[in-house]
Amino acid sequence: MPSFVILEKCDGCKGQDKTACMYICPNDLMVLDKEKMKASNRAPEMCWECYNCVKICPQQAIDVRGYADFVPMGASCVPLRGSEDIMWTVKFRSGQVKRFKFPIRKTQEGTAAPDGGYGEVTTDLASQCLYNEPAALKLDALPTVKK
Ligand code: SF4
Ligand code: SF4
Repeated sequence: MPSFVILEKCDGCKGQDKTACMYICPNDLMVLDKEKMKASNRAPEMCWECYNCVKICPQQAIDVRGYADFVPMGASCVPLRGSEDIMWTVKFRSGQVKRFKFPIRKTQEGTAAPDGGYGEVTTDLASQCLYNEPAALKLDALPTVKK
């Protein structure tokens, strides 16, 4: 289910040229109404629920309607991103609340290697291997069943 903006919380990132949610959305879906200073998801049907906008919003003004198997009705799953870690607050339907904190990757902006550092990879489209396999598995070849 797509992301949506909680309007009471959104401050339009204080009118900067590009809001945090506009900057981070890989699908270029978030837009800012500069008169109202409120952001919105302009094409919910194109949203793939990656949670990037939810995690980056400094006001915690974006949420995603989670699928029922992940976040059943009455439950919620809310991230809070810090500079060192991210904390997920999970509220169960029973009212029970649990928090989980994880360290985050701190790769400097613009320094991530697009190919993951694996360089030359197979261009054989018939191959069963994923992009960086078998190197990423530290193997010379994928194990196969002997016939
Ligand atoms: S990142 Fe959050 S506060 Fe900033 S414009 Fe988007 S929804 Fe509003
Ligand atoms: S959940 Fe991902 S794809 Fe959807 S609006 Fe947010 S950043 Fe874009």
